[in-house]
Amino acid sequence: MVFGFIIGRRHCGYSKADQEGDEELYFQFKLPGTKTYIHPETYEDPNRAVHQFAKELDASCIKIEKVIGAGEFGEVCSGRLKLPGKRDVSVAIKTLKVGYTEKQRRDFLCEASIMGQFDHPNIVHLEGVVTRGKPVMIVIEYMENGSLDAFLRKHDGQFTVIQLVGMLRGIAAGMRYLADMGYVHRDLAARNILINSNLVCKVSDFGLSRVMEDDPEAVYTTTVSQLEHKALSSDQDAAAA
Ligand code: AMP
Repeated sequence: MVFGFIIGRRHCGYSKADQEGDEELYFQFKLPGTKTYIHPETYEDPNRAVHQFAKELDASCIKIEKVIGAGEFGEVCSGRLKLPGKRDVSVAIKTLKVGYTEKQRRDFLCEASIMGQFDHPNIVHLEGVVTRGKPVMIVIEYMENGSLDAFLRKHDGQFTVIQLVGMLRGIAAGMRYLADMGYVHRDLAARNILINSNLVCKVSDFGLSRVMEDDPEAVYTTTVSQLEHKALSSDQDAAAA
């Protein structure tokens, strides 16, 4: 305990966001080696955030194959990504519909700025973004079985308890990683979990506006500030404790 206290003291403190003048106004306890999530809206220029956390992809590396879903900002497609010197991989491609406003573009890319900060086997992996061409795209690893709620409904009663517990374990590991990063998802639901062909579950949906849309009771706006975000975060931490 004494050792933990000493380590804890060394890693307590006001943490600074990775940019000038953006000081996070909260006191946090971090374990050594853990990264802290930075809310993209703390950046004055959201384009800076997206390019800090997401790789810009050349549109010619992406082959769109078919539409697989409807996202909030446009179609979600499946396709292939072939980066120079690498083998091609299956990807999901979220597109931003034509005629978007500047705010829609910002909100759309915000999800990539958030997702790009995570690196965990149970968090859906961001391959990169296309912002310097049209359509604007977010390219994500492809999860063959789609969203968990539809998948479980379709295969009702077909899985063993061990398989189901394996799925839960993956989701819990992903959520724990997010909590360790200081990120609060705010909308954990089976529809926001994606499942791949090996039945590995990954947390997805890091969009900013979903809470308002899904929950009429929600009081936080789509432009939630870092401070509000952290206040909510501490409320939830307290509730969890
Ligand atoms: P979203 O905009 O994230 O709610 O995505 C809309 C729908 O597209 C989801 O419900 C999934 O069916 C599908 N989808 C989104 N991302 C992926 C992905 N990475 N792999 C496979 N399907 C996806």
